[in-house]
Amino acid sequence: MNKKEQDNKNLNSQNESDKILNLQSKSDKMEKIVSLAKRRGFVFPSSEIYGGFAGVYDFGPMGVELENNIKNHWWKWMVQKRRDIVGLDSGIFMNPKIWEASGHTKGFSDPMAECKECNTRIRVDKILEEIGIIADEKMSEEEINKLFDENRDKIKCSKCGKKNFSKVQKFNLLVQSNLGDFTEKGDNPAYLRGETCQGIYVNFSNVVDSTHMKLPFGIAQIGKAFRNEISPRQFLFRGREFEQMEMQYFTHPEDEMKEYEKLKEYRWKAVLDLGLREENLRWKKHENLVFYAKDAWDIEYNFPWGFDELEGVHARGNYDLTQHSEGSGKTQDYYDQEKNERFIPHIIESSGGVGRYVFAVLNDAYTEEEVNGEMRVVLKLDKKIAPVKVAVLPLSKKDELSKPALELFEKLNENFICQYDETQSIGKRYRRQDEIGTPYCVTFDFDSLEDNSVTVRDRDTMQQDRIKIDELVGYLKERLS
Ligand code: ATP
Repeated sequence: MNKKEQDNKNLNSQNESDKILNLQSKSDKMEKIVSLAKRRGFVFPSSEIYGGFAGVYDFGPMGVELENNIKNHWWKWMVQKRRDIVGLDSGIFMNPKIWEASGHTKGFSDPMAECKECNTRIRVDKILEEIGIIADEKMSEEEINKLFDENRDKIKCSKCGKKNFSKVQKFNLLVQSNLGDFTEKGDNPAYLRGETCQGIYVNFSNVVDSTHMKLPFGIAQIGKAFRNEISPRQFLFRGREFEQMEMQYFTHPEDEMKEYEKLKEYRWKAVLDLGLREENLRWKKHENLVFYAKDAWDIEYNFPWGFDELEGVHARGNYDLTQHSEGSGKTQDYYDQEKNERFIPHIIESSGGVGRYVFAVLNDAYTEEEVNGEMRVVLKLDKKIAPVKVAVLPLSKKDELSKPALELFEKLNENFICQYDETQSIGKRYRRQDEIGTPYCVTFDFDSLEDNSVTVRDRDTMQQDRIKIDELVGYLKERLS
């Protein structure tokens, strides 16, 4: 081996070990986030005392506030700021014919293979992607089986380590229930919705008739969706029960692509406004478009395992309303009075998962810093989505301090979501607030009784300011708004 070859070999093995280190530190970060989420009441595994329930998570006291703030931010951008978009809250259950018309009963499936040794099921397109092979769930059974067969020798079962998998089969993701079905065998299942947007499509005419919205206009909805995911994993990224934030925008056929570019730009701005770092975000074009789609891009976030889908922004042509016209026998068209023209609107959509956003903001905000030789964990959440805005901490539990501190808490709590905490040392209380991302801690000490002032500590800089109690609400409002 000549020197150049040796240098290349060294470089390659260096790259390999960098890659391994990088992957290791990324999975360490994932573990740290999952552990903090549980420890501080953001996210709990479902049914934990009964051994858990795969693919479902519960949001704890901090998680529900964070989740609500993310949803409210989305609602503000997608409904309140827009004269051309209205809201909706449709039922989770719908007439099962909707899922036939939309193509879900036949085509809403992912490719699955089963380990013949230990029965572990894998989602084949995702496993192929992990080893660098381009694949997706829209491929036919034949196409994906061919790709899988070509790469079988590289794929081990994550549980037993064997490479003995079955053929790939399409597995339908719709979750069935017996709601309203009194047959013994459950022959007429109703489905828990697999996506929220079908509720929007089937209410298109109702919204036009009741609001007189003129095209182009949108309908937005936030709500639960359910999918029988083959291997739910990666924390909140892939659940069987999750929440979606979807906006469907109805356009004249000729305006679809113009509006699509506008929506892409708008969603990018909204995501940045949520406080996610731009270097952790990117656009990705779909390699394989479904036959009716005009264009499809995803906003991807840099999750601990790398960039992956946060939300989709898609141009869907007139497929959805055409399907529901045929399925229901009632034409879902729009009459443009000015142009005296009747047509089926085209749809562009933005569709994101609340859980994926919660995960992304936790990942983005999670910070470890050394302070006076000690490690400090702090969630540097954007202030507008932090679950608690201000913590009131009396220096001592004695009535002398706790009474006026509680009065201060009541006053602040009328303006911001606050916590009152008098347990343990002030240092420990600061650490606790840092870990839930509280932007400001207000300490009420013995001097406060004399000078009517308190110490306000900034979460990120840890700088402390002495502020007059009378001026405190104004001081905090200025910084939190
Ligand atoms: P993936 O390819 O990751 O399975 P998808 O392309 O099937 O996702 P869509 O059907 O386009 O996802 O759903 C829209 C959004 O809903 C996604 O961008 C994601 O944020 C969210 N979402 C979809 N499936 C899940 C899930 N199982 N758990 C959590 N969020 C999900």
